[in-house]
Amino acid sequence: MNTNIDVNSILIYDKLLSSYEIAPNHPMRPIRLSYVAELLQSYDVFDAKGITIAKPKMATERDLLTFHTPRYINAIKSPPTKPNLTNPNEFNIGYGDNPIFPNMYSLANLIAGSSIFAAEQLYLGKHNTVFNIAGGLHHAMPNNASGFCIFNDPVIAINKLLGFGLKPAYIDIDCHHGDGVQHAFYETDQVLTISIHESGKYIFPGTGYTSEIGKGKGKGYSVNIPLLPYTTDEIYIEVFKNIVPRLIHLFNPDVIVAQLGIDTHYSDPLTHLSLTTQGYSTIVKTIKNLGFPILALGGGGYSLQAVSRGWASAFAILANHCLQDQIPDSYKSKYSVSTISDKQQPKLSSFVRKSIDEAAKQSLKEIEKLILPILKKPR
Ligand SMILES: [Zn+2]
Repeated sequence: MNTNIDVNSILIYDKLLSSYEIAPNHPMRPIRLSYVAELLQSYDVFDAKGITIAKPKMATERDLLTFHTPRYINAIKSPPTKPNLTNPNEFNIGYGDNPIFPNMYSLANLIAGSSIFAAEQLYLGKHNTVFNIAGGLHHAMPNNASGFCIFNDPVIAINKLLGFGLKPAYIDIDCHHGDGVQHAFYETDQVLTISIHESGKYIFPGTGYTSEIGKGKGKGYSVNIPLLPYTTDEIYIEVFKNIVPRLIHLFNPDVIVAQLGIDTHYSDPLTHLSLTTQGYSTIVKTIKNLGFPILALGGGGYSLQAVSRGWASAFAILANHCLQDQIPDSYKSKYSVSTISDKQQPKLSSFVRKSIDEAAKQSLKEIEKLILPILKKPR
């Protein structure tokens, strides 16, 4: 792969991906993607040299089958109209987090296909950053939908990269544990998965403990960094910078697949971490500075203007493009947000801060004990 290109980045987006609703009042609002594109547009980012906006692409069924079962793919294509009385929860669709909506198969397929397209572009070496903002649907399982995710595009894209003979590392900074991706690669040493998230004690999907380190050949290649609710920028950044670069350099991948969910933001209505957009951007910069080509994916993010500012900023960072903190008037006057960074920062009492800090340090200690000795062993 050619990694010497200085700036050559693609954002995958088309309004088709943002002009539908999963269900009225569903927290996952595809319209958020249009705000990201509009904000980047207001900065004239797509006119900059080396930066391109590309249309989403469909996945082949063969690509979907690298993770999902044929029964499940068929169920998404033709959702059951009658409840299956013998196994009502078989595909986990049709109620709660995962309602059935019009064109569900083609839209879910398009999201997965775009992540595959991103993998192909990185392999061809034409681009060193590709960001599929609609992607990052990390909870989907082989035979069921989960947590707003139908097809697990991170897994499918990683499978594509593996098929090209590349060695991917996966970094997931979504507030929720990347359980579907962990599940896919739990027993292999070919992919290192790292997920930093709010502890499963407090939030969906209830997994992602430090003790989940992989199995068989995969032992030591699954890393989880759980954090307590209300964790702020300072503690999050310290933990991330302390452990993630060490793990990545020991694994030495060809490419990083980064799930950049921004539901860690303090204004997010579904979660309890307390990051600001500038804290989030520092993490994206740290990932970029690891020095590998990056396949970036969206993910969670339910505060619409946190999503637009976070992902616009992430794309600019990955594309080596500078965004002024002051948001251009065209966007500012329409949405009443004036800066990319957050001017207010969540404050913690010293007692809460101490507990969070101690829990984060404990997670670090456990990872150092359980994972580092395995990754340090010559393979
Ligand atoms: Zn999430």
